[in-house]
Amino acid sequence: MRPIIFHVDMDAFYASVEQRDEPRYRGRPVVVGADPKEGRGRGVVAACSYQARQFGIHSAMPISQAYRACPQAVYLRPDFAKYSRVSRAIRKIFHRFTGQVEPISIDEAFLDVSHQAASASQALELGARLKREIYQLQRLTASIGIAPCKLVAKIASDWKKPNGLFLVRPEQVQDFLDPLPVSRIWGVGPKTQERLEKMDIRTIQELRKMEQDDLQERLGKFGRQLWFLARGIDERPVRSQPREAKSISQERTFAQDVDDDQLLEDTLEQLCLKVAQRLSQGGLMGKTTTLKLRYSDFTTITRQVSSRFPTCSAREIQSTALTLLRRYRTPGRRIRLIGVGLSNLEAENQDTPRQLRLF
Ligand SMILES: [Mg+2]
Repeated sequence: MRPIIFHVDMDAFYASVEQRDEPRYRGRPVVVGADPKEGRGRGVVAACSYQARQFGIHSAMPISQAYRACPQAVYLRPDFAKYSRVSRAIRKIFHRFTGQVEPISIDEAFLDVSHQAASASQALELGARLKREIYQLQRLTASIGIAPCKLVAKIASDWKKPNGLFLVRPEQVQDFLDPLPVSRIWGVGPKTQERLEKMDIRTIQELRKMEQDDLQERLGKFGRQLWFLARGIDERPVRSQPREAKSISQERTFAQDVDDDQLLEDTLEQLCLKVAQRLSQGGLMGKTTTLKLRYSDFTTITRQVSSRFPTCSAREIQSTALTLLRRYRTPGRRIRLIGVGLSNLEAENQDTPRQLRLF
């Protein structure tokens, strides 16, 4: 089966969110970015509405230049917390369509829908449905490129922007790519572009005329990759991220059931250390500590306690787990398994001093 890849790109994302939330901004040039300070501001345009683009404004343009082009535009500072909330909501919509979702920025993602669509027309239908659902739930438009690989899907999403839906069939890939400038290839930056230009290569068709060895010699490993990309051969898979962990836990089953307090407490200490290590590797902290005990007759209890502040400190986890063990263990009953876990996880606070995070 041929892969069917979507590249979904939200249209003028930051500006569209602002226009959605403030009716007065709709239909007007909106520029999200640095403060223009009447044309004397520093910094750049982060995003702008399509109405602003008619004045020649584009993202990454100096804000002072944007102001000169269109002083009457609405100038807004970015609200990244809001944009990432919207971004997360849109990702949830993607996941209703396929589990294979690879976000590549706050407003772009690749989706592998090979298992959801069997033909080009089904893929188009699915793309239209995804756009509709995003609009119904978020009042925002997306552009979708559909192709047999990431390289072409990414270019195709740009083809009919805004609110676009564009499909490149496998047999159309070469004709689609050939006339494009090499800079359209994802990964070809200004530097590579310049080097290719010195070799008189401007279009993908010209790139295709080069020998593989020659490209590799001049551009290294990427040159070899370019030889394939110019032919529309791009086997990079859609890499879906693992869903975020809901809890991190460690447990140990004893070879022989245990009733020795010291052995239990020592084991618990080691488990807490491992949990703390895994939390810090994942950049996570948790509020709820859970102790799990399985007795020799296989009855299992879990007891948990939540603290006000999240932690990833081994010492804190250990002291909570020990309290739980001493409070809830039935004395005299032999224990077969002991475990400890942390849940209610959140991203580790970057401001927490390093030494507090270490043991
Ligand atoms: Mg976008």
